[in-house]
Amino acid sequence: TAPLSSDPAAGAVAVSARTVGEPIIVAQNVQKHFGTFHALRGVNLTVRQGEVVVIIGPSGSGKSTFIRTINALDPHDGGSITVDGLPLQGARNLDAIRREVGMVFQSFNLFPHLTVLDNITLAPTRVRGVDKAQAQARGLDLLRRVGIEEQAYKFPAQLSGGQQQRVAIARALAMEPKIMLFDEPTSALDPEMIKEVLDVMKELARTGMTMLVVTHEMGFAREVADRILFFDQGNIVEDTTPEAFYQNPQHERARQFLSKIL
Ligand code: ADP
Ligand code: MG
Repeated sequence: TAPLSSDPAAGAVAVSARTVGEPIIVAQNVQKHFGTFHALRGVNLTVRQGEVVVIIGPSGSGKSTFIRTINALDPHDGGSITVDGLPLQGARNLDAIRREVGMVFQSFNLFPHLTVLDNITLAPTRVRGVDKAQAQARGLDLLRRVGIEEQAYKFPAQLSGGQQQRVAIARALAMEPKIMLFDEPTSALDPEMIKEVLDVMKELARTGMTMLVVTHEMGFAREVADRILFFDQGNIVEDTTPEAFYQNPQHERARQFLSKIL
């Protein structure tokens, strides 16, 4: 199988050739409560098609909650969210939006009793009504793309963490989403496996996928992100380029945070 390109020069050319298009996610004054706890306090954000947005911030600041509101895994309870022109309001548009938004979690969340390939073909065949043979051909294609075609007939437990996370990415891509959300996709991985997952994500960015990525991987953010959002206490307190953020964060909380992780 042809692994994803690790030629940094090729990546750099392609990344700079990415074009950013129309707004695809528009969040206005988004609120979320868990009981009496106010987890999201008026988040405003516009993400354009093809943008790669990295989200950082202290634990408990609302990063996961926010990206989970975008596909209503955590429904917001105030303000508005529009995805690809569709307003997310209760059950209205929910299925259509979920089809457009793929998600990858820290903890892979693969089905343990299904082979790698069956994990990937399940949703396309059940939800989208794709023919089984066609879904399998496309699944193998996706596995080739993430560099693990030879693992297709194994079960998740037989794979390394890095391989499992690449399966999770392939599984999300099998639904042909327009947007990919990643919630700390490398946080549960041993250091030597982090790069193989980040390389797949870089390749995905290069193809023009719109991506929101919660991660503290600074190298990835600097190389790939168009924007960095810094969350604190349920809101975005900084929204800027990676260069500006790392060189001179404006917000005191961001400065403290950077001094701890760099
Ligand atoms: P982050 O991803 O930035 O670490 P989260 O979005 O997971 O933060 O959580 C933000 C806050 O909301 C935290 O204080 C967390 O305890 C709380 N929270 C998140 N999910 C729930 C839930 N399902 N029930 C109650 N509180 C929650
Ligand atoms: Mg989180």
